[in-house]
Amino acid sequence: MLESLAPARLERLLSCPLRVAFEQAGEFGGRKSSSAALVGRAVHRTIELVLSRKEGVSEEVGSAWEEACDELAAEGEDPRALPTARRARLRLEARLPELRDFVAQRLPAELLLEETLTSVASGLTGTPDLLIVGSSVVVVDYKTGVVAEEEVLEPGYRRQVALYAWLAAERFGTPVDGALFSLRQGIIPVDTSTDEVNDVARTALEARAAFNARVPGPQPAAPSEAACGRCPHVCKCDEAWAALIAGEVARLGWGEAVRGALDSDVLIAGSGMAALVIGDAAGTQRGRVSIIDVPGALVTGCVVGDEVALAGLGIRSSDPIALRWITEASQFARLV
Ligand code: SF4
Repeated sequence: MLESLAPARLERLLSCPLRVAFEQAGEFGGRKSSSAALVGRAVHRTIELVLSRKEGVSEEVGSAWEEACDELAAEGEDPRALPTARRARLRLEARLPELRDFVAQRLPAELLLEETLTSVASGLTGTPDLLIVGSSVVVVDYKTGVVAEEEVLEPGYRRQVALYAWLAAERFGTPVDGALFSLRQGIIPVDTSTDEVNDVARTALEARAAFNARVPGPQPAAPSEAACGRCPHVCKCDEAWAALIAGEVARLGWGEAVRGALDSDVLIAGSGMAALVIGDAAGTQRGRVSIIDVPGALVTGCVVGDEVALAGLGIRSSDPIALRWITEASQFARLV
């Protein structure tokens, strides 16, 4: 059963209830956190550090960025060497004054950073990046990418901020304004009118009620290139493979996706990378398919006859068909 519901899970629930069922079953998927996510953490932490200080923005971004990256490095993941890190830092330096001005216009106010808001009665919950609590209350969420195309907000981001505003209105007993702060597009206001936030909260509660009404039965799948391409459970999802094989979806996200039985022993090179051969693959490539550069640790123990599935693969050659593992994009599962 789903009890509490936060915006990120709401989006997954609206896009594919089966994906949430995988999560509920304790399946955590086969993909590590991406470099984009790591740079995003550095960006969020840098903004948090800058807003918690009183000094000017231009001097502060550099040292705050270094401090944020040092913290992540101490946890084992330093984003500074990633190709997108420098660009993110430059965008931060260019855009942060806009956020500081936005905040300054609402002072005096208390700034609550990553404050969790929970509606005990409904079970809805969320943690906006920034809550400005002064003569008015404003929720702000940070995004590293584009949030609107031709002035139309990405629906998931619109729902996210509206849900935060609904929760903040319950906490503070006042209507709440909302905005996104995008490193690409700056401050973008979000409609947080009473009708809008009530509508989003109702959507969330109805989606959760429908999910819970089906428990312990199966949840419906909604395979699509977009949804399955972001899903960490795609290799194990029979519904997604059935849709691909039936031609109902052309791909399972970016790259090639193949499934079938191994017809020769797994070869693991001295580098630790493995090569697999599927004798009669189904998916975006068919027939005899070899896959190279697979991390050996993933396939240790696989034997001839095992059914395996891989997604997010690049093409090495088309005749004979050879695919290759792409770090951060590819996924693997041994199906039992
Ligand atoms: S792979 Fe696609 S259909 Fe399967 S759970 Fe994930 S999003 Fe849903």
